[in-house]
Amino acid sequence: MPVSDALAYWQSLESMAGPQAKVHLTGGEPFSNWPALLAILQAAHAEGLVAHELETNASWCTSPQLVRQRCRQFKQLDLGRLVVSCDIYHQQFVPFQRVRLLVQVAQDVLGSERVRIRWRDFFADPVDINGLGQADCQRFFRRAWQVHRDRLTGRAARMIAPLLELHPPEVFAEADCYKPIFASRHVHIDPSGNVFPGVCAGLVLGNARRKPLPEIWSDFACTEDEILLTLARSGPYGLLQIANGLGFGPSEERFADKCHLCWEVRSFLAQTGKFEPTIGPARCYRAD
Ligand code: SF4
Repeated sequence: MPVSDALAYWQSLESMAGPQAKVHLTGGEPFSNWPALLAILQAAHAEGLVAHELETNASWCTSPQLVRQRCRQFKQLDLGRLVVSCDIYHQQFVPFQRVRLLVQVAQDVLGSERVRIRWRDFFADPVDINGLGQADCQRFFRRAWQVHRDRLTGRAARMIAPLLELHPPEVFAEADCYKPIFASRHVHIDPSGNVFPGVCAGLVLGNARRKPLPEIWSDFACTEDEILLTLARSGPYGLLQIANGLGFGPSEERFADKCHLCWEVRSFLAQTGKFEPTIGPARCYRAD
């Protein structure tokens, strides 16, 4: 995300929410473009803006010197908290030693109250599933989801949901989504400026590159968007009725929870191209 975009969004959020605004920098992996991340943090600091949290998977933590140098920079920039991802999914790809190194150095430089480990129980008892057979991997994935119920959208809908107890869609007929969409007071903004409600990735409220955030927010309060209103009133079961009218099937399909149902229905609706930009961007729904 360009520095100028990040600053503009940040300043808008501060002016809309005042001291309540909490800006959390995350990815993807924000450290994969360290110069850009540092430039954003420095520019924000120069404007008196402070990041509440910065999240990383520690993949970049290859030497104690590098980690210490960057942690010192965070301290100088008054970073609120460093959040370190640590779970069975990340540790498939990031060696646990890097997570441990970052936590140790960050606690030393920033103080342990400014380091959040997500998840601390996994950090205390990590599991490496690389080299395990499929049945063991699936057992660990199932257990991990039962302990920390991450949203079953995107890759989790494909990889985790089929391992769980599944239900017919009627089970979710009463579950509306007013609160997560209209009352969460939490948005994500991606590098293209797409604004997502809370953690409902792939559901676009507006684009902050094309329209200032305060305008997106006031338009959103009186939106007539069919997808957002259907979800707010009838949840993903309501969306399913729209999809069924367009040929979604088969009717015997089962779902682990309402977000899994929502994801499968939205993935179908995304393919029709009829509900852009609200159901988008297209890359969110790609299977790769
Ligand atoms: S069902 Fe869909 S809209 Fe509702 S919270 Fe889950 S992902 Fe968001």
